[in-house]
Amino acid sequence: MDVSPDVSTATVGATGSAASGTPMLELRGVNAGYGPFRAIFDVSLTVPKGSVLAVLGPNGAGKTTIARVATGLVAPTDGSVLIDGKDVTNRPTYEYARMGVAHAPEGRSVFATLTVAENLELPLRRTRSRAETETEMQRAFDMFPRLGERRKQLAGTLSGGEQRMLSLARAIVEDAQLVVADELSLGLAPIIVDEVYGMLGRIRDQGATLLIIEQHVGHALAIADSVIILDRGAIGFVGSPEGARGELGLATS
Ligand code: ATP
Repeated sequence: MDVSPDVSTATVGATGSAASGTPMLELRGVNAGYGPFRAIFDVSLTVPKGSVLAVLGPNGAGKTTIARVATGLVAPTDGSVLIDGKDVTNRPTYEYARMGVAHAPEGRSVFATLTVAENLELPLRRTRSRAETETEMQRAFDMFPRLGERRKQLAGTLSGGEQRMLSLARAIVEDAQLVVADELSLGLAPIIVDEVYGMLGRIRDQGATLLIIEQHVGHALAIADSVIILDRGAIGFVGSPEGARGELGLATS
């Protein structure tokens, strides 16, 4: 894919009714990497509140690095990160969390030796009363009955898909405003991917903004309002899911 200079700094357009007001997430001219290695180049994007941005691209394109920048795990070497209009560039990760940013990282990210219920209680303990904690957990179990049935099971014994669901449920109990979901479908059977994406849809319906990082594009395109496709660390395409289908040579619906 050619990366023309005019799109490498493009901003993802606001879409629909979610377009007004302060964006939930903005990256402005971000370069970032690991030591001397630069993984992303001059990335600018805007994610309006309540919308879903899918970041697509092949292995090593820099998708996870964007997720890490958006959650404060990797600091940009240039450019800035704004959460809900506040410049949080170079701020510690806990400040991102305090601003309502939740990260469902690639792979297994739950506390394996704690139960499902304990995994959900943990982030609530310091800030919520026992009654509030119970209410929040019940809300998560109502949304994700499969987890409710397994509330006493050790998280390490859950299937890969159930572990992804648990990390999303954690975002729900934390009342996340921005959920950054990295490669949720990786290694999962298609039917489980459907279920995990169903959860993401419900999280979006509760008003959260989603940044979805995916290598497998079908589900991501189905839920996204806007799409960027990364090519070797730079934005190679920005636009609608339909436009992305054309760019990727997929049948358009
Ligand atoms: P994948 O789909 O394979 O996960 P990706 O698009 O998410 O790829 P990144 O994980 O962002 O890509 O990686 C972008 C580049 O940065 C790659 O060349 C990768 O090798 C490099 N990279 C990622 N993490 C590190 C790290 N911790 N240390 C050094 N280099 C890294």
